[in-house]
Amino acid sequence: MTTKPIIIAIDGTAASGKGTLARRLAAHFDYAYLDTGALYRAVAHYTLAQQGDPDNADDALKGVAQLIRLNIGDNMTQSLFAPDLEKAIRLPAIGQAASQVARLPAVRAAILDYQRNFAALPPGGKGGAVLDGRDIGTIVCPNATHKFYVDAKPQVRAERRLLELQQNNSPKISTIPDLQQVLDDINTRDTQDKTRKIAPLRRAETAHLLDSSYLSIEEALSAALALIG
Ligand code: C5P
Repeated sequence: MTTKPIIIAIDGTAASGKGTLARRLAAHFDYAYLDTGALYRAVAHYTLAQQGDPDNADDALKGVAQLIRLNIGDNMTQSLFAPDLEKAIRLPAIGQAASQVARLPAVRAAILDYQRNFAALPPGGKGGAVLDGRDIGTIVCPNATHKFYVDAKPQVRAERRLLELQQNNSPKISTIPDLQQVLDDINTRDTQDKTRKIAPLRRAETAHLLDSSYLSIEEALSAALALIG
């Protein structure tokens, strides 16, 4: 008899630290990890690379088709994508375009099955999966074993994201945005993600709220582990 995998669903605002927490939880329990935002970012990247409009469903679906051609999951290691794609999708402009393609029902539908399959059958025969995103506890895995909603003050999130951009600077980002630009980007994306018609970002009823404003990574991990029990 096979036991059902444990699913940990982590949703939250942009740059709230949910990805780091998800990665750490996956390592702690030896579960598979899926950064679902990376899927939307890759769709946005491919859409823009084909001179497509991220608000146009036909254009964005061509981006989805390219994502599907990657056969992700076949040779998944630490990150979903090869290093050059991984780097490209982290550009701030791609975050904004990802939030645009993420408003399109056809794009969300195309990615939904992949996410659900990942959770139902975690790659590598792992006993569980950790997924982070915006609609994991509400839409993708409403029956998740544990749910979290991670948030932090916008100013703190902007400072953390700026530091990350500075540390990961590559020749591709010729000009690092200033703190105000990062803050504006985060606020714009949060508003878009919370107010869209389909799968808006919201805290699932049974999700534990984790405010990471004054927590280090270790403290956030300990708090989550204590809540999992
Ligand atoms: O998490 P990340 O900032 O990388 O996500 C980029 C964008 O992808 C988000 O702003 C959101 O619009 C979209 N997204 C989504 N649903 C998810 C994950 C990400 O709509 N499950």
